[in-house]
Amino acid sequence: MSGNESRLQAIYQITNREDTPTEMPKKLKKIWATDVFNLAKMEELLSKKAFKGMKKTIATGEALDPAVADVVAAAMKDWAMAKGAKFFSHIFYPMTNVTAEKHDGFIITNSEGQAITEFTGGLLIKGEPDGSSFPNGSIRVTNAARGHTAWDPTSPAYIMQSANGPTLMIPSVFLSWTGESLDKKIPLLRSNAAMNTAAQKVLRLMEGENAEITTLNSSCGAEQEYFLVDANFAAARPDLLLAGRTLFGAPAAKGQEFDDHYFGAIPPRVQVFMQDFENTLYKLGIPAKTHHNEVAPGQFEIAPYYEAANVAADHQQLLMTVIKNTAAKHGFICLMHEKPFAGINGSGKHVNWSVGNSTQGNLLDPGETPHDNLNFLLFCGAVIRGVHKYGPLLRAVIASAGNDHRLGANEAPPAILSVYLGDQLEKIFNEIQEGKLDSSEGGGIMDLGLSQILNFAKDPGDRNRTSPFAFTGNRFEFRAVGSEQSVAGPLIAMNTMLADSLEWIATELETALANGSQEEAVVTVLKKLMEEHGNVVFGGDGYSEEWHKEAVEERGLKNIPTTADALPTLNEDYIKDLFSSTGVLSNRELASRYEVYSEQYILSIELEAKLMIDMAKTSIYPAATRYLGDVSSAIMVAKDTGVDLSTATVEKVAELISAMMESVDGLSDALAQHDFDSTDAHMQHCASTIRGLMDDVRTSADALEVEVADDMWPLPKYQEMLFIK
Ligand code: ADP
Ligand code: MG
Repeated sequence: MSGNESRLQAIYQITNREDTPTEMPKKLKKIWATDVFNLAKMEELLSKKAFKGMKKTIATGEALDPAVADVVAAAMKDWAMAKGAKFFSHIFYPMTNVTAEKHDGFIITNSEGQAITEFTGGLLIKGEPDGSSFPNGSIRVTNAARGHTAWDPTSPAYIMQSANGPTLMIPSVFLSWTGESLDKKIPLLRSNAAMNTAAQKVLRLMEGENAEITTLNSSCGAEQEYFLVDANFAAARPDLLLAGRTLFGAPAAKGQEFDDHYFGAIPPRVQVFMQDFENTLYKLGIPAKTHHNEVAPGQFEIAPYYEAANVAADHQQLLMTVIKNTAAKHGFICLMHEKPFAGINGSGKHVNWSVGNSTQGNLLDPGETPHDNLNFLLFCGAVIRGVHKYGPLLRAVIASAGNDHRLGANEAPPAILSVYLGDQLEKIFNEIQEGKLDSSEGGGIMDLGLSQILNFAKDPGDRNRTSPFAFTGNRFEFRAVGSEQSVAGPLIAMNTMLADSLEWIATELETALANGSQEEAVVTVLKKLMEEHGNVVFGGDGYSEEWHKEAVEERGLKNIPTTADALPTLNEDYIKDLFSSTGVLSNRELASRYEVYSEQYILSIELEAKLMIDMAKTSIYPAATRYLGDVSSAIMVAKDTGVDLSTATVEKVAELISAMMESVDGLSDALAQHDFDSTDAHMQHCASTIRGLMDDVRTSADALEVEVADDMWPLPKYQEMLFIK
């Protein structure tokens, strides 16, 4: 198999797995990928020559020959129109966590005024949305030019069904007229390329000059957690509708302490909803695989089977859209926010990640031979070094106002990045670090390879759930990612840090190989690596207080609690060097990301604060004072009849109202403040002052909720919203 062919397989076989499941149930087979313009359909509909051209582009990333593009476009249009589509849209992935699209019709009129259809290769390859309103972090001077979208042929086009009819969607990159990336897809593709370049160097040294080493690609399987709330309740909660989380709400009498929801029976109404969205996902060629209840009441999880990272990232965005739309159809609102309800678990997105190719396989799989084990140890070492050196970057790419509520809150990984390897592997790396596996010490690495890792327990059972970054048998699982976030950011960071580490390893390995056998060289390099970076390996309880102390005080790891602390990392020189040396992001592109993400953070906190003030003033204050009036008059009436009722409630409610309004005033003042020296300072203001005052408002309001008469309380309560019937 040629390199191109195998890369094709790497990308497409995982993506459009029509060929594998011969045992696929008939019903599933009927709908599987029916709405996807995948390679199988292209083979059927394109000329042999055009199909070959397409395959080449997918395999090499080379530009599509315009003649081929015309043929592909025509076939794509005919296919889409046969399925009822009148419109097409380039879908792209701006720096926000959402997707964007602009729809165009296939229909034009000819000189006689008749309607005809047109879709050329040019239109397929390049679109020009007026992207001026997408966040671009100063890359594009607003009046200078528009952004372009360009088709990414490695991610298949598909039909999106909506109330407005079907639309042909074309996954695209989004770039400025100067060629700079304005999106999350371009750096993801570049990070794959950088990882491949560096991995080739290491594998070349390990496999020999003449070995076949096909292009490496990264893979991703993302587990998505979400909450469902009945849409009728949500409609009465402006906070859920506008901020995606409850800004107020006292705990329900019953929370998650019974552990009866996790893996419990899925409520029938939710099952029907799940079947509905899973069918849609299957039609879109998204391999939805597992679903179950999550820890909190009203919380669920869906995990599709893993795919090539680029495709998985597109599919992940599409999956979120499909789930949200389907929820609405079933009378639910789907909350993907990281912390919709205080006091119970929030939602995350576990990003399972590995790298591999068709000749050497998954490099994060220990493999079957001692030689495979050596490759595995090197790649695993590269990850360890990456997480140690670039931990703050990993924290920065998962930073958001929503995720700040979750990280370190004793339900999700702490805001300290460490690596969990599992007992066996940790022991091996420790032994390497301590020099116990030097070949001078008897059996050395060969022994290690044969006896220890070969039968490496792939049982992921002993994994440590408290670790933010865990080895799980044949992949790493980045668990600190927020549920609402695009997986592209984390994947870019992981691929890029791996590229950097593999470059370092290649250089070290070359020197070491000049002085000894391959086994000795690998141990020498890994020993050095572990001496510098072994501190990041941790197998204990990541939630514990001792760890927080040990990590920071003894191991020199960083605890980065908020987005305001995390995002400035993007401006540090070593991060700029990382991205520019690997060609993943230029300094300008990186700076624009800092600008966009920090602005989003500030905007979302300020939005919540405004909404909170509004709800406190216009719904909670009136309800509480009305109740206060009612109780006060009742006390008066009772007094007239000679009965003295306690005034304790009146006093308590009055105090709480007064305290709440004082915090509201404080919050309004804090919001009015605008003179900041820097964006960093503005973010800090949000993280400490505004968030602190918001907590104060909430504390008083939630205390009022349990005092005020139930029929007067203006908002649906936790106990109503959390338990789906
Ligand atoms: P968990 O026990 O962590 O909840 P799940 O089975 O729900 O595990 O999800 C694991 C995810 O990891 C799935 O999306 C799965 O396809 C994915 N996965 C499995 N192997 C790999 C791999 N080699 N690379 C990337 N992702 C993988
Ligand atoms: Mg998991």
